[in-house]
Amino acid sequence: MQNEFKGWEQRWHPLREEWIVYAAHRNQRPWDGANEKKETTAKSYDEKCYLCPGNKRVSGEMNPNYSDVFIFDNDHPVVGPLAPDVCSSEAGLYKKKAAKGIARVICYNPHHSINLSQLELAAVTKVVKAWKDQTLDLGEREDINYVLIFENKGEIVGTSSPHPHCQVYATNFPFQHTVQELKAVESYKKETKRNLFDDILQEELNDGSRIICENDHAVVILPYFARYAYECWIFPKRRCSSMSELTEEEVEAIADMYRELIRRYDALYDMPFPYVMSIYQAPTDGKNYDDYHLHLVFLPPLRQPGIKKFPAGPEIGGGNFMSDTLPEEKALELQNINLEEIS
Ligand SMILES: [Zn+2]
Repeated sequence: MQNEFKGWEQRWHPLREEWIVYAAHRNQRPWDGANEKKETTAKSYDEKCYLCPGNKRVSGEMNPNYSDVFIFDNDHPVVGPLAPDVCSSEAGLYKKKAAKGIARVICYNPHHSINLSQLELAAVTKVVKAWKDQTLDLGEREDINYVLIFENKGEIVGTSSPHPHCQVYATNFPFQHTVQELKAVESYKKETKRNLFDDILQEELNDGSRIICENDHAVVILPYFARYAYECWIFPKRRCSSMSELTEEEVEAIADMYRELIRRYDALYDMPFPYVMSIYQAPTDGKNYDDYHLHLVFLPPLRQPGIKKFPAGPEIGGGNFMSDTLPEEKALELQNINLEEIS
């Protein structure tokens, strides 16, 4: 193979059941040092921030003077208990139903501009514990069939506030990525009598080249079929379908991996690294999802300092992802960061 065309191939994404195109030879242009604007603000408190302790929110409610994690119902919910009852029609071509659900905000810390990578493990563990508690609390409600927890971090992904926080959308419908993964797991089981998640993890652990870090109960990989340059997945090593099933040790192990991953991310370009993080877990509709394996997926938009991946014609128009980087090369960059050298 000619070296200049190394990394030009398609790879099968077994969970999305689609091909990802890699054209890593296109990413060779040198970096001129022009950086994506570094997102640094040092304020510990902002009087205009609706997430800071003691401030008034748009609803008129005051935030308490919280000291670690603070959770409240979103004042601008995309799904909510007040959504009107619509005359639902599930038959026919055009169907509709009410957009009911509960949307919440989880503030990670009272400090307005602290980055999670700067927090101690105990503080990050409280955040992961809150994700588990929210999944339990919302998931057991009759009208809630899915608990989606996600974090949009950085202006580049459209975050309205730098205050460290994430959101919870508990909905009366399951989110599509999990629905698709469940379909893939089912058809793989029919075909092979094996569990797709078990096999993916086994492949990654055997190969080892895309493991970013691991501890006793959790592992971070940049998977073989990653779409984004620095896309990383955190798995608990034991197969469990939801945050609600995690033991105390597993909660701490995931917090440890989460913290280590974002410390590596932040060190990579020496900036608070932007990403969209989502927790993929089983629906909460009372059915059996023993074959599902909880995972946290990080999708950072940057592929080089100052260069953002814009999903465009092939992705938005055509429906297949084209990547300018190869997972193994990007995994190596994250592996090579020496955290000892970072204060
Ligand atoms: Zn704030």
